[in-house]
Amino acid sequence: MSVKIGIPRGLWFYDYFPLWKTFYEELGAEIIFSDKTNKQILDQGVKNCVDEACLPVKLFHGHVINLKDKVDYIFVPKMMSVYKDEYICPKFCGLPEMVNHSIKGLPPLIDTEINFSKSRKSLMITAYRFGSYVTKNPIKIRRAFNNALMAYRKYREDVKDGKLPIDGEFSPKKPSVVANNSKSIAVVGHTYHLYDSYGSMSILQKLRDSKVSVIVPEMMNMNKINKLASTLEKKMFWSYGRKLLGAALHFGESREIDGIIYISSFGCGIDSIVEDLFERWSRSHSIPFLLLTIDEHTGEAGINTRLEAFLDMIDWRVNHESDLSPHG
Ligand code: SF4
Repeated sequence: MSVKIGIPRGLWFYDYFPLWKTFYEELGAEIIFSDKTNKQILDQGVKNCVDEACLPVKLFHGHVINLKDKVDYIFVPKMMSVYKDEYICPKFCGLPEMVNHSIKGLPPLIDTEINFSKSRKSLMITAYRFGSYVTKNPIKIRRAFNNALMAYRKYREDVKDGKLPIDGEFSPKKPSVVANNSKSIAVVGHTYHLYDSYGSMSILQKLRDSKVSVIVPEMMNMNKINKLASTLEKKMFWSYGRKLLGAALHFGESREIDGIIYISSFGCGIDSIVEDLFERWSRSHSIPFLLLTIDEHTGEAGINTRLEAFLDMIDWRVNHESDLSPHG
């Protein structure tokens, strides 16, 4: 009987799930994703996590509970760093300990450390450690990992091409062909915010329903983003922050957007810095900016109203192009 591995549909999921799914399936394991985020997952997450945590971390706890009695292992890696001299948020680093402490009766966690802050030389050793939960055969693990990397690269290309991995499934239509001459709005935020439809109150889908072309940072050229981010006065220590600020500079250069929506998580230290820099930058470039901060108490009606007002304001601006306020 094959080993069953549960992958929670939260946090790094939207960046890496094709890699880990392919890797473990190639090794002969059965992969089970937690259900798409729903009210029960949210309630369980809030109940079983410390109050101070951000919404994505609470949701992650809910997803772990959703898998608890269905699998032999739950995949909760200890993600420290994926790029040289940069770190992921501390909550990612301590996630296995946090989950194990907060939720009783869990199956064993696959909590191998991922740390490439010094170099990527340890990439294959890290892959062997992950694979050893299923097999001790290094040749099989190497082959599985190479195939997983191919699946991962294909996934990234698909997202770059305009497919949105909402809840881990590609949307049927490309946002860029939603409507001709539609408004283009850049939607910025962590992937686990943007693509979790329940957690984000379906903001991406709502924009598409309003005939808006949606642009997310993952659709942009990462080399360009990295290059622009390196021109910042001070190097951004956090990988997510670097990506978001690099994307802001990219939007400014390309001038192809009518507005920016930043989806932020209440209580997120990284967002509190990046959203402020982003807002100042968009003001200085006269690009309309909307900040939506979400936590478990946020009401959908309020989000809808603000979205509608923002889109109306952009329409108004297009129709009264030269009628700008002297205050900016
Ligand atoms: S980066 Fe922010 S939103 Fe993401 S896990 Fe850390 S604190 Fe939460």
